[in-house]
Amino acid sequence: MMAVCDDILRCPTCKGPVERKGSVLYCAACNATFQRQGGLWDLLPPESSNLKLSERDHYSERTNYYLYMHNTWCGSPFYRHYHDSFLDDLRRLPPDSLILETGCGLGHDGLELLRSGYRLVETDIAPGQLREARRMHRECGFSASSAHLLADAENLPFATGSFDGAFMVASLHHLPDPLASLKEIRRVLRPGGVFVLGTEPNSWQNYTIYPLGKILLWLVKRFAGKGIDTAEMVSEADKLAEGFSRNQLSGLFETAGFSRWILKPAGYFSAAIFFLSTELSQLIEHDVRLFPLERLAVPLDEALGRLPLISRYPWHWNAMTC
Ligand SMILES: [Zn+2]
Repeated sequence: MMAVCDDILRCPTCKGPVERKGSVLYCAACNATFQRQGGLWDLLPPESSNLKLSERDHYSERTNYYLYMHNTWCGSPFYRHYHDSFLDDLRRLPPDSLILETGCGLGHDGLELLRSGYRLVETDIAPGQLREARRMHRECGFSASSAHLLADAENLPFATGSFDGAFMVASLHHLPDPLASLKEIRRVLRPGGVFVLGTEPNSWQNYTIYPLGKILLWLVKRFAGKGIDTAEMVSEADKLAEGFSRNQLSGLFETAGFSRWILKPAGYFSAAIFFLSTELSQLIEHDVRLFPLERLAVPLDEALGRLPLISRYPWHWNAMTC
């Protein structure tokens, strides 16, 4: 099936072993079968909530849009600095470690880990994006060290203790039940394995910047008649998401059973500049990038993140368990 994860695949629902039966995977314990969809094994649970189905379609259908957006993001000093920061936390694992990413999207962070010599299992619920991730990883020569399968972060189809490391980037806030997902990740990590969370939104913007931004967008549309419908580009889960305060994230880690973790502030001014230039680009339908400003802001943000009260209010969080 997929050399990297053949022997650790399990039924997403009952966690029983799955066996190859003709063209399907079969779980004898609960009599479930799993098919291949467009070349990807579909190990999603038989039932999914409407919200998850809507997320799957949203991200799958907009694969090209997100590819385009990624191309405009990847040169951003803010993006690069905070992605390198959580990738470096994973790079403490010995070479050849097996790493899981849930909600991998287009797989750009995974590619960095493959290049660093790790074995990687990428999962997502959106087949369009996952296929794109697989294409890119194969094109870069990592067919043998990577596997890609459709899976739900709250019902992982892997045996307990399978992975040396796991990570999730800007995805936890899309999930209806983030705690269930963290518990699943802890289950599939071996004892002493590392979990890394990348660029999860903090909660304060939901009471401040985002409502203001919505009013501003509405005004611009109303009086200038300009700008694409950004609501169309925001997924249902993103509309519902509230981000995580430091206490909320700590509470989730603790309840999920992790014993130690570090929360790291990920961006203040650099994140704001990145966010505003992205929004402005959509509004005027022209790419606005303020990379030199972001570059100046990153060291300032690093300093701000070390101040007692201010450290609670970064734009995003990175986190690692230890
Ligand atoms: Zn089963």
